[in-house]
Amino acid sequence: MKEACGVFGVFAPGRAVAQLTFDGIYALQHRGQESAGMAVSDGQTITVVKDMGLVATVFDERTLSGLHGHLAIGHTRYSTHGSSDWNNAQPAYRPVGRAGFALGHNGNLTETESLIKRAGMLPGMTASDSDVVASLLASEFSERGNEERAELAGAIEAVIPDLAGAFSFVLMDADHLYGVRDPHGFRPLCLGRLGAEDAPEGWVLASESPALDVIGAAFVRELSPGELVTIGAEGVSSRQLFDTDEVADRLCIFEFVYFARPDTRLHGVEVHGARRRMGELLARQAPVEADMVMAVPDSGVPAAEGYARASNIPYGQGLVKNRYIGRTFIDPDHQARMNAVRRKLNPLRDNIEGKRLVVVDDSIVRSTTVRSVVKMLREAGGAEVHLRISSPPFAWPCFYGIDTPRRSELLAANMSLEEIRRHLDVDSIAYISLENLKEAIGAPGVDFCDACLTGNYPVPVPVSFGDPEDDGAIGSAALQAALPGV
Ligand code: AMP
Repeated sequence: MKEACGVFGVFAPGRAVAQLTFDGIYALQHRGQESAGMAVSDGQTITVVKDMGLVATVFDERTLSGLHGHLAIGHTRYSTHGSSDWNNAQPAYRPVGRAGFALGHNGNLTETESLIKRAGMLPGMTASDSDVVASLLASEFSERGNEERAELAGAIEAVIPDLAGAFSFVLMDADHLYGVRDPHGFRPLCLGRLGAEDAPEGWVLASESPALDVIGAAFVRELSPGELVTIGAEGVSSRQLFDTDEVADRLCIFEFVYFARPDTRLHGVEVHGARRRMGELLARQAPVEADMVMAVPDSGVPAAEGYARASNIPYGQGLVKNRYIGRTFIDPDHQARMNAVRRKLNPLRDNIEGKRLVVVDDSIVRSTTVRSVVKMLREAGGAEVHLRISSPPFAWPCFYGIDTPRRSELLAANMSLEEIRRHLDVDSIAYISLENLKEAIGAPGVDFCDACLTGNYPVPVPVSFGDPEDDGAIGSAALQAALPGV
């Protein structure tokens, strides 16, 4: 099961940590809209509240006012099939030691079979990666001596270095908050501080920096790949859990393209600026004569602004987005996804009619969104449609925590550029080059995981592509189902 989630944690004696956690995970809602939850400790008891649905649906004033403590973690979850299950909502809790412990996970482990055995779980019964890790930690935790029983740190140090794949964890026992990143740092995780530098009032962990901003915490730093941060009454301490040769910074490049909020800073770069520069470079790389540059809202907006600025073609709005409709991406079948896009986006006919349009979006995965958009724009009288995409062709599934379809369903894995152009019914199409994408991000000397664009997987993945029996089969029946009319 793949999970692309938002995680948050706060240690702040004397503060309303449940309210802070609510605000934090609300700011991370875009990372997961399927379930939300938090665990709060008062030093004696850990209380977990979690349910299916959005943050504001799961929590209200009444729920929050009953959650007292000095320490909390929170989670928003987003997963693929088999997901509508309360048991998979996080944080995961295990009642071992004095008050038990809780865990929230963003990522995707690549090797779970041996871990499932080690945790003493029955194959087929396990619901999620996070469950496996919670069970491993629980057995390690309960085997430890009495003096260590209230502290999870020993179990974390014994279990986490054996995990493979992508993980940014927030964990807590009765009195400590922990944050861990996998040795490649695939998923982001940052540390923040409440109160003044010389008199801290608390510490915060969050997937993305806006979750710090909204609760008035200052950004301190990103956790390093492989780092364990322990936070308690004694302050903040840090340890590297992995050997030097296992550690290699490979933050997911797609966080910059699509996943992260535009106001998030990653590697010191604000994501919005990176996306605008992607549009500027795309305009230089693939210019076209046109009357208006427009975005597929909201994810295409910053790059469209950049394209317009660099090309001197006026920027305009061609589509209105219904902001009360959530993600359309994970609907199970093609027609349902097309209908969902149509419900979400509606054209502005007067802005479009008779115009040559440059349409900018951040990515094409299955192609549901752009196909639906192009059809709408043509029906609304658009004279020409020139598609510009601010990421290179997405041709390889992600195994490191972003929800993507099988390779057979990825448009760019199955067609040439000209086939794609015809399939989408556009006058021209261009994707930004990988080189330009990296230049737009502008973090010199930083390496990224770009497996979804290149097929270079930094950690071995559980399928071998190209074999017709495999998940990665090209030209399979799934392709026909996913792309009717191919
Ligand atoms: P598709 O409609 O399948 O081509 O998906 C591409 C569109 O969905 C783009 O406009 C993106 O903004 C968005 N998107 C890309 N990747 C994801 C993802 N993993 N989860 C949700 N939405 C995504």
